Amino acid sequence: MEAVMTNKITSQKAIELEDKYGAHNYHPLPVVLERGEGVFVWDVEGKQYFDFLAAYSAVNQGHCHPKILAALIEQAQKLTLTSRAFYNDSLGEYEKFITSYFGYDKVLPMNTGAEGVETALKLARKWAYEKKGVAENEAKIIVCEGNFHGRTITILSASNDPDARKNFGPYTPGLISVPYNDINALAELLKDKTIAGFLIEPIQGEAGVIVPDAGYLKKCFDLCKQHNVLFIADEIQSGLGRTGKRLACDHEGVHADVLILGKALSGGTYPVSAVLANDEVMLCIKPGQHGSTYGGNPVACKVAIAGLTVLKEEQLSENSERLGKILLNELKAIQAENPELVKIVRGKGLFCAMVINERFGKTAWDVCVELMKNGLLAKPTREDTIRFAPPLVITEKQLMECVAIIRKVVKTF
Ligand SMILES: *Cc1c(COP(=O)(O)O)cnc(C)c1O
Repeated sequence: MEAVMTNKITSQKAIELEDKYGAHNYHPLPVVLERGEGVFVWDVEGKQYFDFLAAYSAVNQGHCHPKILAALIEQAQKLTLTSRAFYNDSLGEYEKFITSYFGYDKVLPMNTGAEGVETALKLARKWAYEKKGVAENEAKIIVCEGNFHGRTITILSASNDPDARKNFGPYTPGLISVPYNDINALAELLKDKTIAGFLIEPIQGEAGVIVPDAGYLKKCFDLCKQHNVLFIADEIQSGLGRTGKRLACDHEGVHADVLILGKALSGGTYPVSAVLANDEVMLCIKPGQHGSTYGGNPVACKVAIAGLTVLKEEQLSENSERLGKILLNELKAIQAENPELVKIVRGKGLFCAMVINERFGKTAWDVCVELMKNGLLAKPTREDTIRFAPPLVITEKQLMECVAIIRKVVKTF
């Protein structure tokens, strides 16, 4: 370790290299990270930061969690990939574990979140034709305005974010959008007999942690049942303890027909996603109709079992619920102290956001740069909104240190 650290790269050099040789599809904060542990990350100059993004909630269990790493290393030394052309000794164990964890008949393992969403869309279409009786090529899926479900062509076809869409057409047909948190608009669209599924983030993450009205999810679910439409929950970001429950849908007792997980399923060590559903839906896909070379590989299986075990053993949902209330109350206090700069604060569990009044000419970006200088990493989502989503292993004492940093920085603006 020490020997490596003597000839390591500087932040400036690392940024130059990425700028010169990497595609410019991201706009990172100017910090170059080298190491992480729990809620902390360190840059190449050795400066310590609280990580308040947690890799878009992929690192809910904290950076480099020893149990998850041990599972990764142990399995990687035995067998890493067989493809699904053969059985492996870990997949069945994992499938049994995750289906009983969430209460579904079956799981379909994939790697990235976007692949999980694509899988869910394919399942919904197949089910509509083979079970619901929709005429071929007529099936539609309802999506929500302001959604973020990933970056494939079909998924961006479901987006109404101009940056995500522009000049990537032609778009995939069969996707119709409904205003988020508008139950009447959904009821109207559901009258169409060709609707296969309703795809929703129970809390919209990338849109800026948009929490719908209490009761909205349950009403959506009930309407879907009434019209024989699949309720598809994208819990890739909102799930796995982030909002103070195991799943954000658990707040309203909703058990989605199709559940999509990703991100924290592996605790940030490895791309692992999963789609869960009961037999009536899942068995619509037959051999040869869907798959992925890496999906269900033994390393992913062991890592996901460890990730989910840590979530339960360390009661991370409970910690998120308890500390989330403190965080939101503190953010509300900071808003009250700075009513002109801070327009809105909102959130659920350790999934909070602060909307900055752009009238000041001080963007959310500037606030994030200042937070960074003070040892806290957060990133704007949309122009004016800062998301606060630390690893769920954070302690109350650490959280209060972070609140002090946020309070101090907001005051200077
Ligand atoms: C991040 C995210 C995705 C996409 O996941 P990737 O692993 O980046 O493909 C999909 N849906 C939601 C809600 C997300 O937050």
